[in-house]
Amino acid sequence: MAKNSSELQNASFKKRTKLTVSANDCEEAIYKTIFESVMTQRLKPGTKLPEASLCELFSASRATVRKVLQSLAHDHIVELRPNRGASVAAPTPEQTREIFEARRILESSIVRLAAVNAKRLDIATLRQRLKQEHASLDRLPQPEWVRLASSFHLAVAETAGNPILTHYLIELVSRCSLIVALYEPPGNASCEHEEHSRIVDYIEQGDGDRAARLMENHLSNLEKNVFLNPEEDDHSLGRMLGLK
Ligand SMILES: [Zn+2]
Repeated sequence: MAKNSSELQNASFKKRTKLTVSANDCEEAIYKTIFESVMTQRLKPGTKLPEASLCELFSASRATVRKVLQSLAHDHIVELRPNRGASVAAPTPEQTREIFEARRILESSIVRLAAVNAKRLDIATLRQRLKQEHASLDRLPQPEWVRLASSFHLAVAETAGNPILTHYLIELVSRCSLIVALYEPPGNASCEHEEHSRIVDYIEQGDGDRAARLMENHLSNLEKNVFLNPEEDDHSLGRMLGLK
């Protein structure tokens, strides 16, 4: 279970490589660099990621680069197309709508469970997170804020106490974070802190109906903030990866 922002961003990668992680430091470093570059909007949606350029930039073998690109494709960060190579994912408006719809359905059920199962300690943990969020509101750059806000949703899932639901939520939250990072104008907060706070109030009161309704509205507001008209950018691949 991802407990904080850095764990969230690599949860899926580590899960698949835990048996061989010590041999995969190079792969993990390349994965993180590309992931961070996408999340900080240096790499724009649709940017081509030619294998040869990545091998040169990271001084890595083609086999290593291919493995990393496959991991990134598995996590929906890049797209791999036969004969066209890899490029940064560019979710369509239809895919964006589907991802948010799935998340609303999943999270309204999760929050209902949380309202039934939350212990006093769970509520205290959620309140502690809200404090952290509040302290970070004006301080953190947009991508960091997106991750912190996303980790709140995973903490609610942990309170619900069903690891299978949490597993599916991790994938949906990662995909939403990517969409928000790719398309939302900087400075426009992804999640309303005030709404997180009210969700915790309803969980504490055991009011699953209200908690579920508010969660659905909260995610609808997040979806409304997403813009799907990225500007063209002509930076070099090395610069967008933060290597030059
Ligand atoms: Zn939120």
